[in-house]
Amino acid sequence: ASVWSKVETGPPDAILGIAQAFRECQDGRKVNVCVGAYRDTQGKPWVLPTVRAAERKLLENDDPKDYLPIEGDAGFIAEAVKFAYGQNVDLSTVAAVQTLSGTGACRIGGEFLAQFRENKNIYIPTPTWGNHWKIFKECGLETHPYRYYDRSTNRLDLNGFIEDLEAAPEGSIILLHACAHNPTGCDPTLDQWKRIADALERKGHVAFFDSAYQGFASGDAERDASAFRYIADRKTIPVLLAQSFAKNFGLYGERCGTLSMICSDEEERQRLLSQLRCVIRPMYSSPPRHGSSIVKTVLSDSQLAPQYYEECATMANRIQAMRELLVKTLAEVGSTHDWSHVSEQIGMFAFTGMSEEMCDQLTKDYAIYLTRDGRISIAGLNDSNIRYVAEAIHAVTD
Ligand code: PMP
Repeated sequence: ASVWSKVETGPPDAILGIAQAFRECQDGRKVNVCVGAYRDTQGKPWVLPTVRAAERKLLENDDPKDYLPIEGDAGFIAEAVKFAYGQNVDLSTVAAVQTLSGTGACRIGGEFLAQFRENKNIYIPTPTWGNHWKIFKECGLETHPYRYYDRSTNRLDLNGFIEDLEAAPEGSIILLHACAHNPTGCDPTLDQWKRIADALERKGHVAFFDSAYQGFASGDAERDASAFRYIADRKTIPVLLAQSFAKNFGLYGERCGTLSMICSDEEERQRLLSQLRCVIRPMYSSPPRHGSSIVKTVLSDSQLAPQYYEECATMANRIQAMRELLVKTLAEVGSTHDWSHVSEQIGMFAFTGMSEEMCDQLTKDYAIYLTRDGRISIAGLNDSNIRYVAEAIHAVTD
């Protein structure tokens, strides 16, 4: 027998498993509203023109393929931190490293916290991006849920959220979605963030922001940064930020992101950076350079940067238009349900409130592929399939 004969088959990933089933489906009507990746009006992936322009520049300049330093490309990191915290950010007090997109940023931050925090409790919203649970558990942190979304009202459960922050042991780590909460599309308002910040401050909690959609949510990267900027500006709450360039630059497969920590001074920054390097080195030595070279080239170019912001807004605006059209079409095809929560949500997804059974029926009877939590990736909708999807949703929810 093979030495591997006792290895059992692992469970498929909840989201990527559905993507695989979609690829294998032979039904001509099939629609993929599962995976969170942008699609254009034709249902095709879109490489941003500024990304292509940057790639051409890199080629023309004969950009080398050398290793990056352990912590990544300093020029990229500076642009990324300015993108997150604003052009006037004091870079000497931000310890930041380049990461393998947002997932890698969460992992590096989690590993650091597991090593250096005595209180290893991390509180994660329910629901959340499913990978959060696995990433932080793998890091050796103790994962706990906090209340975030009320399924009976399809709205934020702010009181439950704050109660859970208050009940958590002092100095816990609180995972927060920077904007466009995945999967609910439901974000606190700035006033609500103030109450959340008050609770974080009272309890001495650490704020760990996961920012996977900056600019992609509202179309305005500055506006989408307001929650973590506000909390960092209070200067009383320790802040970590996991930043992904997958969605807002369309660089999914390039694995480009950062993990940054706000420090009290340059000396602390150097100390934290040295430890972050120690986390990274035995994992993958140094990050890939293509994606970060693109982001650096675009954001540091006086012509490409403004053009990039417009392209990002184009994606956000198309998704917003599809969101409104979905709600309108549901009414047109005869649905009398209250879908106002879908109109109010922001970001890539509509969190419909459909049950698992309804989702299963959509897949089985209509070849519409979605996660069983009722989440629809709006980026997968376009003028050619939206009526079909709305009719199917109406049929299973009627
Ligand atoms: N966090 C959240 C909330 C996400 O939705 C995603 C992408 N689905 C990520 C992190 C990480 O994505 P990536 O590793 O591709 O940047």
